[in-house]
Amino acid sequence: MKCRNCGETLSLVVCDLVSAPMSNAYLSGIELDEPEIYYPLCVYVCNQCWLMQIEDYEKANEIFGEDYRYYSSYSSLWLRHAEDYVKKIVPRLGLNPASKVMEIASNDGYLLQYFKTLGIPCFGVDPAKGPARKANTMGIETIVAFFDADFADELVHTKGLQDLIIGNNVLAHVPDINNFVVGLAKILSPHGTLTMEFPHLLELIRDTQFDTIYHEHYFYLSLKTVESIFKKHGLRIYNVEQLFTHGGSLRIYACHTEDSLHPTETSVNLIINEERSAGLFESQTYLAFQGKADKIRSRFLQFLIEQRTAGKRIVGYGAAAKGNTLLNYCGIKGTGLIEYVADASPFKQGFYLPGSRIPIVEPQRIFLDKPDFVIIFPWNIKNEIMKQLEDIQEWGGKFIIPVPELEVIDA
Ligand SMILES: [Zn+2]
Repeated sequence: MKCRNCGETLSLVVCDLVSAPMSNAYLSGIELDEPEIYYPLCVYVCNQCWLMQIEDYEKANEIFGEDYRYYSSYSSLWLRHAEDYVKKIVPRLGLNPASKVMEIASNDGYLLQYFKTLGIPCFGVDPAKGPARKANTMGIETIVAFFDADFADELVHTKGLQDLIIGNNVLAHVPDINNFVVGLAKILSPHGTLTMEFPHLLELIRDTQFDTIYHEHYFYLSLKTVESIFKKHGLRIYNVEQLFTHGGSLRIYACHTEDSLHPTETSVNLIINEERSAGLFESQTYLAFQGKADKIRSRFLQFLIEQRTAGKRIVGYGAAAKGNTLLNYCGIKGTGLIEYVADASPFKQGFYLPGSRIPIVEPQRIFLDKPDFVIIFPWNIKNEIMKQLEDIQEWGGKFIIPVPELEVIDA
């Protein structure tokens, strides 16, 4: 297998999670009678360009197609994050009703709606038909397509060059990262800015976030690696911010390399230096990862078995990809240890988690059943979830956070 950025042969395995079904392949009741397809799930890092990556076992259009069950607007935290971003970026770049804004992976219009309110022309591109349909119904133009260099040519023709291009949590999900970045450079106006958010590899390594590894997530990105890929295609990162979303993300600001309106700020080198000190450009760091992941798995399983043996009831919250990776790596099947997973999204309720086949129910069930423990799978938004479920304290219920270290928290 070759590095999908530089073509070097990949030999350094960071974490071998053996195999798992696609993490968003939720099963309907009828599908429980069918076999499931498991794909190998193994992450490598390239020791030339330090791009951490998995092999793509399924075509991207199968992953993010019609069946894609993630609707951004069902997370109130994510909506607030989007609104704050728009409030900040509009004055910063001096955007107005004559500006052009495009978002890639715009989902159901969760973010673009705030530009629309301000009267700033905008449109989105997203391959998932369901969320795109919802955005279009709300009056937010959304083109159902995968963004790449060829499609960028087409868009330049029909939509013109863009003053702001936004791409949140998309850079890690594109199979051909070079082709994607070429497309960005093509459609960015001469003094335009593009901002992208992605989970920071530094946090993944530091906190052993092995449960953020799944098939849909091709790349695990450091600022240094992204900077060098952008540079290759005539783009320069001029600023970067650290965010708390998804367990620690970066928001990068980039422009055309020669754009003198946007001098490079000190933040860029600061974070690259931090990555270097954390060992992100040394093999040793990656070789230590698997052992740490295995320890988290043992501790989590040990806890579940102990509590079940003592007759305690355990349920989960958040039918997210993270939980699926963790459950599959732990080899958990059925409802023996975890009775069900509650999720606020009506698009997931009534289905079953891929692999573990644990049923997904509506959150209200927790208050009827009064379980002893609620495992929070999307630990990146644990504070929001614990607040929503704080009433479990009425019967002495406790929260469990499995990663990076097993934590039992009183409600
Ligand atoms: Zn490489």
